[in-house]
Amino acid sequence: MENIQPLAIDGNNLDRPIIISGPCSAETEEQVLETARGLARAGVKIYRAGIWKPRTKPGGFEGVGIPGLAWLNKVREETGMKVSTEVANRGHVEAALEYGVDLLWVGARTSANPFAMQEIADVLRESGCDIPVLVKNPVNPDIELWIGALERLYNAGMTRLGVIHRGFSTYGRQIYRNHPQWRIPLELRRRYPNLPIICDPSHIGGKRELIASLSQQALDMGFDGLIIESHCNPDCAWSDKGQQVTPEVLSVILDNLVFRDAPVPTENLVHLRRQIDQLDNDLLEVLAKRMNVSREIGLFKRDHNMPVVQATRYGDIMTSRVLAAKAMGMSEEFMRSIFSSIHEESVRIQVELNK
Ligand code: PEP
Ligand code: MN
Repeated sequence: MENIQPLAIDGNNLDRPIIISGPCSAETEEQVLETARGLARAGVKIYRAGIWKPRTKPGGFEGVGIPGLAWLNKVREETGMKVSTEVANRGHVEAALEYGVDLLWVGARTSANPFAMQEIADVLRESGCDIPVLVKNPVNPDIELWIGALERLYNAGMTRLGVIHRGFSTYGRQIYRNHPQWRIPLELRRRYPNLPIICDPSHIGGKRELIASLSQQALDMGFDGLIIESHCNPDCAWSDKGQQVTPEVLSVILDNLVFRDAPVPTENLVHLRRQIDQLDNDLLEVLAKRMNVSREIGLFKRDHNMPVVQATRYGDIMTSRVLAAKAMGMSEEFMRSIFSSIHEESVRIQVELNK
């Protein structure tokens, strides 16, 4: 995917930060237009509305379908906003293109399905259009599946691609509806620096109170934009009502966000980065030494017919290191994940010795 092009509509590149907003679902013509008017007043340039809704269980509101596309055209005519919707199969893409939708996105349940992605890619190739397409992360935290979905579109000639980070499903009650696992979109950025990344704080948080802080976090990490659900009357929304805000609230949220777009390298930063490089080097050396000692212990255990893992020893290491780390101002969660990785690698080395 070397030839990814900037996101553009009608030949105009989209300004950063790219802000997309609108209801989870198009419900009625009045709701679509009233929400759009409020968003246009708030300065939003790209409108979103789900026309076909992928609901977890049958029986929920599954979208208004094709009549909603005509409402989107009214939004464009009346407010000048560009319009976007979600597509999940051939029929959706054909209808959206016929109605002149300006930008498409693929939802998280669809990007997890290679058959659906290939079908969407095929119909886009046949249409020969140059429409921007945003691919949401698959519901499961699988970066290769996410990249595979993008590659199918790219191989079909679509170059105006971007992604939406909407978090990942987890089991059980959590603070977030979908856990952000920021390291996954950051890894995507490392691999494809030109691929725009848009954050969806509405679906990550699942609660309107979390939108502002998640949005700021995303901008601080260098995301290129935000897609935020808004509704003229959120509490009465037909889907995702807890996570939608009014256009007025959205306007306040956007006004308070800081978009960090200063060019990066300054003298100070160069100096600090040198320190980081040096410290990382030290860390690598210490880790290599630790693994060597681990190997020696492994040889001893092997020669004395001892099991590789002593649960009490591991428990003691974890407790004492976490306590020490906390005293040094580092978080417990961070230290647990570091020491469980180190321990896992030591065990792997010692098990290898027994083969
Ligand atoms: C949506 O954007 O309304 C939607 C269905 O999102 P997701 O695919 O992220 O669940
Ligand atoms: Mn939604």
